[in-house]
Amino acid sequence: LRMVSSQPIGNEPVSDEELRPHVLDGFIGQPQLKAQLRLFLDAARKRETPPDHILLAGPPGLGKTTLAMIVANELEVPIRITSGPAIQHAGDLASILSSLEPGEVLFVDEVHRLPRAAEELLYIAMEDFRVDVMVGKGPGASSIPLTLPRFTMIGATTREGMLPSPLRARFGFTAHLDFYPHEELEKLVERSAGVLGLRIDREAAHELALRSRGTPRIANRLLRRVRDWVIVHDLPQASAEDVRQALALYQIDAEGLDRLDIAVLNAIVRNFQGGPVGLNTLAAMVGEESETVETVCEPYLVREGFLIRTPKGRVATPKAWQHLGMRPNEDDVN
Ligand code: ATP
Repeated sequence: LRMVSSQPIGNEPVSDEELRPHVLDGFIGQPQLKAQLRLFLDAARKRETPPDHILLAGPPGLGKTTLAMIVANELEVPIRITSGPAIQHAGDLASILSSLEPGEVLFVDEVHRLPRAAEELLYIAMEDFRVDVMVGKGPGASSIPLTLPRFTMIGATTREGMLPSPLRARFGFTAHLDFYPHEELEKLVERSAGVLGLRIDREAAHELALRSRGTPRIANRLLRRVRDWVIVHDLPQASAEDVRQALALYQIDAEGLDRLDIAVLNAIVRNFQGGPVGLNTLAAMVGEESETVETVCEPYLVREGFLIRTPKGRVATPKAWQHLGMRPNEDDVN
């Protein structure tokens, strides 16, 4: 494994590694996606050619990086990891591309944030396995076409809609990752607990899953806080009550909502009597980028039935009011 940029992925990048499954069978949940990917990889293996390029779309922390590493591992090829923002000039990308080995996986996280010139270079590289390398500077500069070995590009994005369609069209397979249902997170918690050497019963795993916002990365992070609790209190294993107490200490919401989720609901309910509120207004009120509110926060709130999107803006549901300990003002509701 070689890292082009060692940008940390997640809050605890080092220990994230120990919890990463390395084969597709170890990847928990997302059964349909796994079946699709399995077929895709098996076919490539039989053809003895690198598979088509893959696009992974979905909110952060759902396993895009993990899947990319699994793909490389299953194909027994090296993986190169970089991200859209890490590539500042087309030349950065050209030098990565021109040093790829045959069959290598190139993983580009946040691929929707590639600079324009790099994007155009990538179109050609993905389609024709060719890159034009600029030699020299100024009037004497010339471009030399360089043939690349066949490689597999894996792009990850939290904003599929922001990908220009020529780029999107060059991926042979797009996988949409969605938030994990509680039962799947429960399994993930049990697996991770095994890796961390922590004993946790079913009910405790369930309590933790409920608080994990449908997100494996969060489940793993909370599990480490529970492990701290167990170590400090010299417990033989974690019970549901331990999970509740440990996570209450960190003000983890029992429905898994985080600070930003709550801020968004509060803004709609308290400042706009439940909405509708436009996205930009909402983002400004909670002091966040619109993009973060739209791609990180809203999908989960919508899925869990706290918020609905209407043509006029975002509206808080009765469940949201209730969660904040408030009642919709009857006069204002229509
Ligand atoms: P980002 O898009 O922000 O990079 P990501 O979607 O790539 O996030 P990962 O870094 O792949 O997320 O996953 C976060 C953590 O969750 C890792 O420690 C990984 O091991 C674990 N994880 C994610 N999905 C699964 C899964 N389906 N089964 C087991 N572990 C998982």
